[in-house]
Amino acid sequence: MDVATLFSTISLAASNAKKVLEASKTLANAELKQLIAELAMQLADAKLQLAELRHELVRLQEANMNLTAKVEKPKPTMQWGCYKFDGHPGLYCPKCFEQEGKMHRTARAMNGHFYRCSVCGAMHPTH
Ligand SMILES: [Zn+2]
Repeated sequence: MDVATLFSTISLAASNAKKVLEASKTLANAELKQLIAELAMQLADAKLQLAELRHELVRLQEANMNLTAKVEKPKPTMQWGCYKFDGHPGLYCPKCFEQEGKMHRTARAMNGHFYRCSVCGAMHPTH
């Protein structure tokens, strides 16, 4: 199922709706009913196709979000028990990054034996 199929189904239904309108001036009731029945079927088809496309759209949006998250998440290296990111000065808390995806700076503590996260308070030993 694709957008082109749905588009052609709706185009067909729209042009048939015009035919029905024209025909209503001259055709007998039975013929009109036949045309209207065909039109109703085409619209039902379009509705089904649209439902499938909506489902596919949701699936693609989710896949896109996952891909975007993967691409945008920077890859850290370890230093002094903390994370270091290319292009970012300083060291960052691994706990905050892994659990919440947030980059929080750490600062030396306990005479330099630890790096302490200023947000979650986690202590990361430097050795
Ligand atoms: Zn933290």
